[in-house]
Amino acid sequence: MYEYPNLFIGGQWVPSTGSARITVHSPHSLDLVGSVPDATGDDVDKAVTAARTAFDQTDWPDLPAADRAAALGRLKRAYISRIPLIAELHSRQMGCPITFAEPLHAQLPVTVLDYYEKLADTYVFEETRPGMGHDSLVSRRPIGVVGAIIPWNGPTFLAICKLAPAILAGCTVVLKPSPEAPLDSMVLAEIADEAQLPPGVFNVVPGGAEAGERLVTHDGVDKVAFTGSTATGRRIAALCGERLKDVTLELGGKSAAIILDDADLARTVRGLVSTSYVNNGQMCAAQTRLLVSERIHASFVDALVSVSESLTVGDPLDPATQLGPLVSRRQRDQVEAYVQVGLDEGAKLVSGGGRPTGLTTGWYVEPTVFDHVDNGMRIAREEIFGPVLSVIPFSDDDEAVRIANDSPFGLAGTVWTTDPERALRLAQRVDSGTIGINHYSMDPGAPFGGVRASGTGRELGPEGLAEFLYSKTTSLPRHRRR
Ligand code: NAD
Repeated sequence: MYEYPNLFIGGQWVPSTGSARITVHSPHSLDLVGSVPDATGDDVDKAVTAARTAFDQTDWPDLPAADRAAALGRLKRAYISRIPLIAELHSRQMGCPITFAEPLHAQLPVTVLDYYEKLADTYVFEETRPGMGHDSLVSRRPIGVVGAIIPWNGPTFLAICKLAPAILAGCTVVLKPSPEAPLDSMVLAEIADEAQLPPGVFNVVPGGAEAGERLVTHDGVDKVAFTGSTATGRRIAALCGERLKDVTLELGGKSAAIILDDADLARTVRGLVSTSYVNNGQMCAAQTRLLVSERIHASFVDALVSVSESLTVGDPLDPATQLGPLVSRRQRDQVEAYVQVGLDEGAKLVSGGGRPTGLTTGWYVEPTVFDHVDNGMRIAREEIFGPVLSVIPFSDDDEAVRIANDSPFGLAGTVWTTDPERALRLAQRVDSGTIGINHYSMDPGAPFGGVRASGTGRELGPEGLAEFLYSKTTSLPRHRRR
């Protein structure tokens, strides 16, 4: 049991001003996993005040970048000893298979901390630009107090994608994790405590939509860094718009994998298991529209069905498991409703669609494949967020690009082919924030984000740091000219 009696505010473990608690249950066994305080509006206010004080009344925002990089190094070292715990919590809270939780959810954050620690050596925080009459000193200053709001489907990584660049920038952070997966954020608070981050630089207030809106609308918050659904993103964008508050939105997706006629089928289908069924299909960048050349359509569907039906579904903590349960009953209801929508729309169900036999407890659905999907159907246009794939045949490369781009979203994608030049040409024509050739991966040094309903702004890379800085120009006196 993972019980966290207190909140982490101003460098202290403090009781909530309320008595409500968020309980987390295993989506596999439904057993209680742990609990955290359900932060009240007053708790959120206190956390913002602590972050404000650290920003306004200490030297934190003005420290040399090297000092803040040193803080990132301390965080990284404190984090590393907790990798097994973080991995286990991702399996216990949201059902992620442990073999995926360990390398990605638990270890990837280390590479992000490491990347931003090292970026301090080369990032240009200040430069003098020659001007017509006066030179300009261009400084990149921390934007202030950041309200960071994260979803349940990759909480540690998504928290670190905000915390690491915010710290390097000189910002202070109030993190609000989601009620489905708040436990690992309390571990991050323990890590910050052990790493002796100055009080108020990082604060954690678990809660739901109400706590989230309190944070977003708080006058003491200068910037909102949000990851979550497009619907919530729209609401947060509107609240920030009214207040002219800076906001980054990392939202949903319905990404296309384009499988060309010359693709290596065995390799492609193996690759799609990790890009489409990843995290039990609960991944923003999951490739859930499979656009397949009609020349190889029949053999591709056979291979996909065979690999889908071979997946080991079950207890996420069992190292043999490839697909675990969905995070909650609500999520399973949503996925099952979409399976019915697909049937009603006339798509052909060729694999799965039901609940796996023998798994009567827990929020399981079978890996599911629809064939002959029309890109106008709801199952091709809306984010299902579960292991449900739609196969859409196309006739030539132009049609593949047209279908890929005919989506409200634009987050990720892949191209599968044995011709690297054709792949690159095609990849450049797909409107998405990221795309991979014969694989999909994220790199700490390369920006991640979306276009259209997938959001605005970028995380990771120098672009992810720039989101926490504003540019300030100081026009220098004439005599300073060289
Ligand atoms: P969600 O939008 O329901 O919740 C996300 C977070 O916002 C939670 O912490 C929630 O408590 C909070 N929240 C909800 N309503 C709020 C409000 N009105 N004001 C402030 N905060 C509010 O999303 P979810 O179901 O937790 O996560 C799944 C979604 O996240 C999917 O759409 C997925 O694609 C998306 N996602 C995107 C990325 C990305 O980087 N683009 C990464 C992971 C997940």
